[in-house]
Amino acid sequence: MPEGPEIRRAADNLATAIKDKTAKEVFFGQDHLKPFEKLLSGEKIWAVETRGKAILTRFSNGLNIYSHNQLYGRWHTGAAYEFPDSSRQLRLAIHNDTHSALLYSASDIAVLNESELADHPFLQKLGPDVLSADITQEQIIERLLHPKYHRRQLGGILTDQSFLAGLGNYLRCEILFVTGLAAKTTAQQCGPGKLAQLAQAILELSQQSYNTGGITNDHQHAKQLMDEGASFEDARFHVFRRVGKPCYHCNTPIEKTTANGQGLYFCPNCQSRCYLDR
Ligand SMILES: [Zn+2]
Repeated sequence: MPEGPEIRRAADNLATAIKDKTAKEVFFGQDHLKPFEKLLSGEKIWAVETRGKAILTRFSNGLNIYSHNQLYGRWHTGAAYEFPDSSRQLRLAIHNDTHSALLYSASDIAVLNESELADHPFLQKLGPDVLSADITQEQIIERLLHPKYHRRQLGGILTDQSFLAGLGNYLRCEILFVTGLAAKTTAQQCGPGKLAQLAQAILELSQQSYNTGGITNDHQHAKQLMDEGASFEDARFHVFRRVGKPCYHCNTPIEKTTANGQGLYFCPNCQSRCYLDR
């Protein structure tokens, strides 16, 4: 599933295509949304925002399209009324004079007014967005130490969208690796220095991934690996999807287990107490 940085980049592309422009025509692929086509066509889009892994497209008449890509949703933006050759189902199209923004395959789409937006069950549960300009290291430490979270395993809370919105599985694995923490560790077990390091890694790796198109490995090291012939997928991570390959720091083979239903990749040496589910 795409994580916060990928969704934020998709929203940036969308904003370039449709923000501050009048949506000449809006199309929905799902029958129950058809009545909204007329209400949104002809309205100006004043913002495209992310809420964790969801995108809000905000119209000047107070209506908002909420969309969550989940596993299969894909946005495509291009010249007006140019459709890519795709066998996927078109779920949403927003056309203006110059561009079309097309959402394929996603089924979690809703049109909400401002009060429905405030009451939306998914949005209501979300913690602060990890890519928000306002979020600070101190706020993250405060959340880590909150009674709701401080006794839970980090491997679990780092993908819990009510803790922080936008983190997903690859960021979880990479954040735990750079802080040398086992997934089973709780915030309660960490001293102030380790908590500060963890909060910093959460912010920095998310931002780096957004800025670099998905690289969470040391950026210079990733570049060097690609210069030496490694593919982007092979160079971008410290540990994620690197099972059996040597740790870049200590040469120990990277291992994989499962935590909260998703593959957890780690270095058994650098993350010394990482024995979750083994
Ligand atoms: Zn290692």
